[in-house]
Amino acid sequence: MRTHLLLIFLISLPAVFAAQDDESVCKKAMLKLDFMGAYDCYRDIGDKRLAQATNALGTGDTAKAIELGKDAIRLKAGFGLCFKYYMCGAAAHAATLVSVAYEKTGSKGQAEAYAKRAIMYAKNSGQCEGSAVDEEANVFCALQYYISASSAYRETKLFNAPAECKLLHGNTNPDHLDVVFIGSNFPNDAPFNEYVDKAYRGLLSMQPFARNAHKFNIWRLDTRQDLSCVTEEPRLFSCDRSKITRTASTCPNDVTVVVVNNNEWRGAGFMNENLLYLGMGVPTSAFVHELGHAFAGLDDEYMYSGTDPYTPGSSLNCDTVNTCPKFTSVPGTQCKQECGFANRYRSIDVGMMRVLGNPFGIFDEKIIEQKLSRYK
Ligand SMILES: [Zn+2]
Repeated sequence: MRTHLLLIFLISLPAVFAAQDDESVCKKAMLKLDFMGAYDCYRDIGDKRLAQATNALGTGDTAKAIELGKDAIRLKAGFGLCFKYYMCGAAAHAATLVSVAYEKTGSKGQAEAYAKRAIMYAKNSGQCEGSAVDEEANVFCALQYYISASSAYRETKLFNAPAECKLLHGNTNPDHLDVVFIGSNFPNDAPFNEYVDKAYRGLLSMQPFARNAHKFNIWRLDTRQDLSCVTEEPRLFSCDRSKITRTASTCPNDVTVVVVNNNEWRGAGFMNENLLYLGMGVPTSAFVHELGHAFAGLDDEYMYSGTDPYTPGSSLNCDTVNTCPKFTSVPGTQCKQECGFANRYRSIDVGMMRVLGNPFGIFDEKIIEQKLSRYK
């Protein structure tokens, strides 16, 4: 492994010298032959670029999304560091993101090229999305990356909805945002169906979703499955990601919502990944909160402990400056200390991302509407 790494790093040296400022730490680690240090360093910077690129795409700045996404790919895969699954997974994500950005600018050929690159990274990853899976699952995962970016998929996805995909709201228009609910470990349909009904009706009665209800297709997968969900922390849990991908691909699925039949477990939203988990132990309004994370990339506005470990400016809904220049131009916003951390500021006193059941607040609504703007 060491020999292999050395070769990779030597080949990469010219590119390293051309690297940007914040890569100087990684560069130093490489020159000291501290491979693991360099690896961690590039991984972290690559993650940062990926988050920034995702944010740029969300705010409609496609040119910036392309630039940052390409940089994320370079950091994740370009240095030959793509020998661990999460690096490839992230490179595939970045390639998908660039593909979507190109698609939005009308560069279909470029979009196609990057979608193919996403498949390649996902296939090369050996593993996909952190779970140990077989080759078949990798292909599914790659397809998932591809279809989320491909306009061809949008044209055909209505044909992919078999009878077990029950349409609860909307129609089969592929330009809508398709949200699919899938259950795990329900012995019969009634409790799942009831939970899903409450959850999506709650969503569509709340702003900014209510005024955008025409952009939604809500699906419920009416088959029973076990998604191998296990306890992670006292009340959190994780499920088998490859099983989810395979199961969700039965129905149109821009956003996948996994509901698990467990009264102890809470919910979780995977930041910008359009995937969320709900345990039955949380009210259905948790669906809206987790969608805030998973679809809109919003941070929690309640307090964690410690200070912000993230890059200043990397949060969409929290400001790092105590006068809140990010919000003040938007009428009706506030500037309240504590937004995940004590050194960040939020735009609403008690919003949905702080306490369940509250409105998002005008600023967070704006962010969500920007994300919704790519759907018709
Ligand atoms: Zn949260």
